[in-house]
This record gives sequence, structure tokens and C-alpha cells, in this order.
Amino acid sequence: LDALSALLLSGVNGSFKAFSRSLSSDADNNIRFPCPNHNCGRAFNWKRNLTRHLKYECGLQPRFKCPYCDYYGKLKGNVSKHLLRRHNTRKIYVVDLSQGTS
Ligand SMILES: [Zn+2]
Ligand SMILES: [Zn+2]
Repeated sequence: LDALSALLLSGVNGSFKAFSRSLSSDADNNIRFPCPNHNCGRAFNWKRNLTRHLKYECGLQPRFKCPYCDYYGKLKGNVSKHLLRRHNTRKIYVVDLSQGTS
């Protein structure tokens, strides 16, 4: 019985050591604030970075769209640049999705 309890204790100690080692040396442990949006996959060291990400980046619908293909942009300038690069032989205009959809 003593041998068995010693074995169990050593097993417990061993797994605890492994557990604490994985906690302290894991590089991913620095990332404490993963984005709650599960198709995003971003993670942040600081809560304020996650808050900013959620407010300005994550889950925001692109407002502007290329009229000739499925390119979307959050900024009108991005879609204009895309139009000049990809469709410079056609009329340059940007579709504003926030207009006429309400
Ligand atoms: Zn996100
Ligand atoms: Zn396009």
C-alpha cells in the first residue's frame, strides 16, 4: 500500500510539474484576450487592443463595393484603388452599400 501511494504521489507530483511548466513557458500564454468572434481568430496581449479591434476592425461590414466584381472595402479609397488597378478601362465609381438598403 505504501508503495502504491508513493507511486500515486509521484504521479501527481509529476503531472503537476508538467502542468506548471506548460503554464509558465508556453509562449501562447502571453495572449490573454482572444477575439470572441470565432471566425476571426485574432488574439491580443492587452484588453484595450481587443476592445479597439472589436470596435474598429472585427465584424464590421465593408461599406463600399466594386461594381464589377465581389471586391468589398471598408474605405471608399480602397475600392477606388482597386477599380484603378483592376478595371481601369471601365467607368470608375464606388457602390456605397449604406445607401438605399434601408
Ligand atoms: Zn475579431
Ligand atoms: Zn472589382
